[in-house]
Amino acid sequence: MQGPRFQKHVEDFTCVHCGYKVQGDGYTNHCPRCLWSKHVDVNPGDRAETCGGEMEPVAVEGTSPEYTLVHKCLRCGAKRRNKVQADDDKTTVVAIAQKRSADDTIEQ
Ligand SMILES: [Zn+2]
Ligand SMILES: [Zn+2]
Repeated sequence: MQGPRFQKHVEDFTCVHCGYKVQGDGYTNHCPRCLWSKHVDVNPGDRAETCGGEMEPVAVEGTSPEYTLVHKCLRCGAKRRNKVQADDDKTTVVAIAQKRSADDTIEQ
């Protein structure tokens, strides 16, 4: 009745936001350059979500080196937390962290 909660899908994808060609490692679900994601998972990696909306990185949580990105779907408003990956653009991570304090997009 239930399979593994985490399914690994190794696939390359083109970023919906900036067009960067992302080399998938089976875990990456966001663009390492602009950090935008796509709403395709119900559970991480399962690609079972039919929404398919663009997910904006709206906030960064945690402290170095364990940062977590908060993505918000522009289409349905769902929020997802994803670990910042080693090859993610740290300048962009910092920019999002700063944007959060300037423009509070997270509800209390
Ligand atoms: Zn991108
Ligand atoms: Zn969505």
